[in-house]
Amino acid sequence: MTYTFPLPENESERLLALEDYDILDTLPEQAYDDIARLAAFICGVDKAMIAFLDAERKWHKARYNIAAEEVPRGFAICSRTIMGSEPLIVPDTLEDSRVKDIGMVTHPPHVRFYAGVPLIDDAGMVLGTLCAVDTRPQTISEEQTRALTALGNQVMQLLRLRKSLKVLEARERQLYESRQRLDSANSELRRLTLTDELTGLNNRRAFNSELSQEIHHAGIRETPLSLLVIDIDHFKILNDNRGHSFGDQVLIRVAELLQQRVRHQDFCARYGGEEFVILLPDTPLQGALKLAEACRQSIEENAFDGEQLTISIGVAEYKGQTAEALFDSADKALLDAKRQGRNCIVSGSATSSTTGQVTVTAPAPNPQKD
Ligand code: GH3
Ligand code: MG
Ligand code: MG
Repeated sequence: MTYTFPLPENESERLLALEDYDILDTLPEQAYDDIARLAAFICGVDKAMIAFLDAERKWHKARYNIAAEEVPRGFAICSRTIMGSEPLIVPDTLEDSRVKDIGMVTHPPHVRFYAGVPLIDDAGMVLGTLCAVDTRPQTISEEQTRALTALGNQVMQLLRLRKSLKVLEARERQLYESRQRLDSANSELRRLTLTDELTGLNNRRAFNSELSQEIHHAGIRETPLSLLVIDIDHFKILNDNRGHSFGDQVLIRVAELLQQRVRHQDFCARYGGEEFVILLPDTPLQGALKLAEACRQSIEENAFDGEQLTISIGVAEYKGQTAEALFDSADKALLDAKRQGRNCIVSGSATSSTTGQVTVTAPAPNPQKD
């Protein structure tokens, strides 16, 4: 059976407003249930509900002694209540021409008493009702009607809070997402400022910071620390002969080969141009010389698109000096290695003023060349 029902003039705006509260088909909540129970108590009846009316149905957010979760809108007396802004009080439905033909009255549950207040939002939209009903006629005082109206206001208050909470949650989500974006942009920025663009190795800035940290740790823990400064031999000639972009590819390959030689605790960086540095924590001079030799051999044994390449290496061990002095010591040793014919390794002394001892000068014979 279908029932017709009157439509408020602003029905489409009213439905949009209701949708905005996102309340339809939500789970029961104690706060709403308590209000329905109080409404029944105020009117001295045993059934009450908080209802919202969408296009087709009257849906119950709270039910006190009522089984149905929803009823067709045309079947409900509330479809009349939402036509106005005042409470609709019907002591006996059979005696009231406004409601006596409505399904709720003519069919089970045969409602005889109805007291409903419209739930009106700040924009004047009537979203639903708070109502108390009975199957026996009943009268209520003005005082009771006022109390029911006050309870209806409390329902609206709950709805407003719900909406504010939704807005706050959405803002919090946005804030969280912006924070995530900012964090990842920051870490990308940090990565970029510490990474050499060409080779992907750590850059000079990253190395300087790591060097001071490692010196600090070595000083405190009294553990050894060594440094290799590596320079590609005659790189300018290679650049001149094969072009700058070939030179770039060689730098990338050299970086890979060095990276393959170092241990996980070592710190490998491109210091600039065709110079690389490797910081070796927990490593005394002898260990550093071994690793330097492994690096030297690795480059020498590798053909770079037919080009033979060598590197010279200066090595220094930390002996309590400053970061600058340690670097100078390895750099001076590198200069000595260049002077001694390149493709060799020289270790610097602990003090940066004296020349170091040559530890590995003779490159291994290259069988491919012979
Ligand atoms: P030495 O054995 O004495 O070190 O000689 P060298 O030719 O390697 O040294 P030099 O300092 O004379 O030249 C270094 C060259 O490295 C010159 C410069 O153009 C080149 N270079 C520096 N940075 C880059 C780079 O990013 N890419 C390329 N392709 N070349 C670079
Ligand atoms: Mg060079
Ligand atoms: Mg150089």
